[in-house]
Amino acid sequence: MNRIRYFDHAATTMVREEVLKEMIPYFAIEYGNPSSIYSIGRKNKKAIEEARDKVAKAIGAEAKEIYFTSCGSESDNLAIKGVAYANRLKGNHIITTKIEHPAVINTCKTLEKDGFEVTYLQVDKEGRINIEELKSAIKKTTILISIIFANNEIGTIQPIEEIGKIAKQYGIYFHTDSVQAIGNVKIDVKAMNIDLLSLSAHKFYGPKGIGALYVRKDVNFNKIQDGGHQEKNKRAGTENVPGIVGLGKAITLANEELEANNKHLQELRDYYISQIEEKIPYVKLNGDRKNRLPGNANISFRFIEGEALLMNLDLKGICASSGSACTSGSLEPSHVLMAIGLSQEMAQSSLRITFGRNNNKEDVNYLIESLVEIVQNLRNMSPEYKDFIIKS
Ligand SMILES: *Cc1c(COP(=O)(O)O)cnc(C)c1O
Repeated sequence: MNRIRYFDHAATTMVREEVLKEMIPYFAIEYGNPSSIYSIGRKNKKAIEEARDKVAKAIGAEAKEIYFTSCGSESDNLAIKGVAYANRLKGNHIITTKIEHPAVINTCKTLEKDGFEVTYLQVDKEGRINIEELKSAIKKTTILISIIFANNEIGTIQPIEEIGKIAKQYGIYFHTDSVQAIGNVKIDVKAMNIDLLSLSAHKFYGPKGIGALYVRKDVNFNKIQDGGHQEKNKRAGTENVPGIVGLGKAITLANEELEANNKHLQELRDYYISQIEEKIPYVKLNGDRKNRLPGNANISFRFIEGEALLMNLDLKGICASSGSACTSGSLEPSHVLMAIGLSQEMAQSSLRITFGRNNNKEDVNYLIESLVEIVQNLRNMSPEYKDFIIKS
């Protein structure tokens, strides 16, 4: 069996040892309910508030503006539904994009069934929205703009500061799904005029099943889940204390190491892209060449099914993704790749490689060599490829 080489950090990451170490006591030693008044309860309450401070500090927010949730998806739901239902009397119009994560797109689809109107902005072939288009989509009834900070499939980073300025100017709330951006892009919610921001620990070497939502202090939003009074009445349910502690540690490390980590990831990414473009013909880089997440390389390999590529890579111990992990398993081509204008065929031939802190150049060389071999083998079996070669 081959050693596992993991290139799917946009799907999830391994928990860092430093993070795990801080979490462990909160499973079986410090197990009290944070709402209880005895000491092991109060200790947990304190641990939660320390983590809240860390999350706030990492994004330039105040601690009271941070709400812990169970994941990035829940944060997106709470942000969008929470603002929509609280501001319904002001208006029913929401602006988002065609390249959001399903947690945002499907939340908007649900709201459409409940009388809300949603505009899904187009993106250009690099995956960026057009600021003029955003401005002209704004109506008197617009209550929320929700735009992904950095895309999970193609890595494209949006002009968040410009969007924030416009939202502020028109008095519309601005939410951004920044699940992929945390740890990769320096974020300051005040300077960027962000009103609500979603994040999830398992995308930056924290545990799964814990997320957070930042909500600027004077934003009017509703809870979406009924129960106890946790999280200032906005998110009922006994807190996931080990998860919250892990999130606090992971986001602190991610921020401290952001620049060094970016440099490392960019080097691997640029090396990978240039080697693939040099060694394999008929490939296309998807997304913006410069303005993208440091660890993301999404490439279409013409004449090849992404799924076949994944299965062959798996045999070599390589983990990667075709499109988004959330949509793999379905045969639909990725909505993101279709939105940037790829043909169905090119969308289905895409391979998303997302590098992480533990990858090194030797791993990347193994990946490149494996791809050169697999792509050639698969193309040799493809009737379309043979046809194409004969004709050209
Ligand atoms: C992973 C991801 C989510 C969902 O986060 P979970 O914690 O897995 O629910 C939402 N948005 C983006 C951009 C993501 O990459």
